[in-house]
Amino acid sequence: MEESRIAFLHRLINSPSPSGFEQRAQQVIREEMQHYTDEQRTDVHGNVIAALNPNANPRVMLTAHCDELGFLVRYIDEKGFIYFATIGGFDPSTLPGERVQIHTANGPILGVIGRKPVHLLQGDERGKAPKLSEMWIDIGVSSKEEAQGLVTIGSIATRAAQLETLRGDLVVSRALDDKSGVFTVVEAMRRLYEQREKLKAGVFFVSAVQEEVGLRGAHTSAFGVDPLIAVAVDVTYTSDHPQTSKHEIGDIRLNGGPVISIGGRINPRVYQMLINAADEAGIAYQIDPQASGTGTDTDVIQVSRAGVATGLVSIPCRYLHTGSEIVSLKDIDEIAELLSRFVLALDAQTNVIP
Ligand SMILES: [Zn+2]
Repeated sequence: MEESRIAFLHRLINSPSPSGFEQRAQQVIREEMQHYTDEQRTDVHGNVIAALNPNANPRVMLTAHCDELGFLVRYIDEKGFIYFATIGGFDPSTLPGERVQIHTANGPILGVIGRKPVHLLQGDERGKAPKLSEMWIDIGVSSKEEAQGLVTIGSIATRAAQLETLRGDLVVSRALDDKSGVFTVVEAMRRLYEQREKLKAGVFFVSAVQEEVGLRGAHTSAFGVDPLIAVAVDVTYTSDHPQTSKHEIGDIRLNGGPVISIGGRINPRVYQMLINAADEAGIAYQIDPQASGTGTDTDVIQVSRAGVATGLVSIPCRYLHTGSEIVSLKDIDEIAELLSRFVLALDAQTNVIP
């Protein structure tokens, strides 16, 4: 993938966006989308909506969520140790020793998540996941006053991990859930913009907020955009590493190509059109059967207004919700290509009635 594209992914990950505090990432996304869309707006929840060919039919929404996990500073004790609330679903065992950045008006403050050392853990404390109440952020100060000079109550923090190349097409970072999804949809929009003379549909890009805390941005933005068709891009767990079961989650792997969901949350015609687009492009894909819900923004978009014909294409991702999520740039490139071909095939005659 081109250097300038990777630079955008870096910028996106460098812009902290815990759920409810997405403004900095959304600013980066708005600036980028100005190059590929006819109009851009931001709604009252902070969803960024950018449209290409907005007056055409059918209306199709391509979306991913820009929010990430994070922390909210709640209390500073006498020694300057900082206690926090978590934003989103953390596995507490992944936190002790993590470096974090507390984001302040004067820039980021480096901190470390502290816990008592293993040497002092008693009996059954060992081998058990720590409780969030037994952890704090240590920013290297010695008093409450010193900490208060740097950090205010209500400041947000994120893990400090940034994007790095692991090997080959694999990259690792915090927040690839779901900034890699936003990046993929931006890339699909860029390709659609380059071929816009062939485009018949109205395309609405949505960078949605607050997915990690209840799929909220998708809920409201879908109502606002009022699409006939919507495809969400999120990350999904894989069964290609130890301690996961193909029997339980199917055969999903990194570098295996787009993961296309099927099930009650997915419109069968949209599913088939996604499969056709992959076949025509010669892109290998993986099928993800989801019997009840997908756990993604797709679930709420499907039941917006009088119903939306939804699809879900996922990026395979290892170690979800840790500071070291791994995805493949090859999978991302293929999903962007799949989405742009899917949209180019839509016209006013497209039938999504099952
Ligand atoms: Zn997530």
